[in-house]
Amino acid sequence: MSGAVASSMGRFECRICWHVYDPAAGDEVWQIAPGTGFTDLPDSWHCPNCDAQKSQFLLIEEASDA
Ligand SMILES: [Zn+2]
Repeated sequence: MSGAVASSMGRFECRICWHVYDPAAGDEVWQIAPGTGFTDLPDSWHCPNCDAQKSQFLLIEEASDA
């Protein structure tokens, strides 16, 4: 288990429509398998809701439960 892998599995939010890409869920629209990190998405991937490019997505800072 490495920290690099964990960070790549963060959720990303579209800053245009606020659609959230969750790596744990994947993306049914683009047929992305669950467990696929945002950084592993193909460059052709766009927001399934508003068609924004990957560059329009921002990493969601997870609040610590501790
Ligand atoms: Zn969007």
